Amino acid sequence: GHPRRVAVLGATGSIGGSTLDVIGRHPDRFRASVLVAHRNVDALVPLCAAHRPELAIVADPAMEGALARQLDAAGVRCTVASGPEAIVAAAGGSLCDVVVAAIVGAAGLESTLAAARAGKRLLLANKESIVMAGPLLLAALREGGGELVPVDSEHNAIFQCLPGGRPDLDAHGVRRLILTASGGPFRGRSRAELAAVTPEQACKHPNWVMGRKISVDSATLMNKGLEVIEAHHLFGAAPERIEVVVHPQSMIHSMVEYADGSVLAQLGNPDMRTAIAHALAWPERIEAGVTPLDLAACAPLAFERPDLDTFRCLALAFQALREGGDAPAILNAANEVAVDAFLAGTLPFLAIAELVEGVLAELPAQPVVDVQTLRERDAQARSVARRKLRTAC
Ligand code: NDP
Ligand code: MG
Repeated sequence: GHPRRVAVLGATGSIGGSTLDVIGRHPDRFRASVLVAHRNVDALVPLCAAHRPELAIVADPAMEGALARQLDAAGVRCTVASGPEAIVAAAGGSLCDVVVAAIVGAAGLESTLAAARAGKRLLLANKESIVMAGPLLLAALREGGGELVPVDSEHNAIFQCLPGGRPDLDAHGVRRLILTASGGPFRGRSRAELAAVTPEQACKHPNWVMGRKISVDSATLMNKGLEVIEAHHLFGAAPERIEVVVHPQSMIHSMVEYADGSVLAQLGNPDMRTAIAHALAWPERIEAGVTPLDLAACAPLAFERPDLDTFRCLALAFQALREGGDAPAILNAANEVAVDAFLAGTLPFLAIAELVEGVLAELPAQPVVDVQTLRERDAQARSVARRKLRTAC
């Protein structure tokens, strides 16, 4: 048949690049038909030249002219558009069968929902959207009738260790989901040792090369916290059924424990192309260009409990999940403001958790009703966070 047409939202990012690498290996199966970036035209144009999409979009309207000129100069003919509405329209539109949601942060919410509502195969990397709007995303998926295949490596691993789709955990004898965490670049450090760490140090992840926002989240363990919430929604698991174990080598990407004591794990080298290739081809399997796992070379595999007193963001995420309603959206918004400030050098590392905790305390959870209300709460949480930033610094 024809190649499946893939919209890559966040094409210029780390996940976007890995996705285009896998797609490029299988021109008979997949075609990148829509490429989306925020404003990095210099990175987007070569991707358009290599993949020849039908549509290229920048979220920032001020960059549309530059995109059109540079594509023209490079001899690439494709439709050009800009603005968040254009991204939402493309995610739910007729130019794609598959949507890779790899925009970073809350900015990805509307396009993720649009892809789900339109019944696309949704490859979810943008964990912030499901953290913010879990129930709305699940409803949109039911409405659209498409399938979500997780790209986040832990959830992709769990998906692979479950009977398929979103099974009834009790009916299938699932006891617990065990999320592995690398522990990030600061594993084993004390609070005192973390007081003065820099953005550069936080972004040097031991196992993965990722965008700056998720790198900081990995260093604080907020990333694992967001992933606990993501797992709760994706697999219908209550918080007490989700365990986090630190596994520094990142070879085991996560596990599922069954009633009979069996624990199934998915292993692989830490390379996002494995999860992306799995999610693109599922239920089939395709080559991803990944180095085969050499078990003897990475032995012994180590495991330890997370240090929740030092890495308080993980505890805060569990707290927000238990509080329910839109508390996870508040947590996410406060965290995005805090991470931006940390990356800008205006907030110390340990103050990220303090800021998130302060915002959660000031804004008690409300039920999640619709996207518009959620957006208002997101904005409210950001403004509380910014006020706290101003008075603290
Ligand atoms: P990057 O920072 O590398 O890339 C982000 C991408 O999003 C870029 O293409 C950027 O465009 C685009 N973007 C940013 N803001 C907007 C916006 N407002 N509208 C449209 N596009 C926007 O991030 P990653 O690839 O690392 O992460 C992407 C998502 O995937 C995150 O949610 C992350 O948590 C998740 N994820 C990432 C993993 C990884 O290994 N990197 C693993 C698991 C999950 P531009 O270049 O123009 O700024
Ligand atoms: Mg992950």
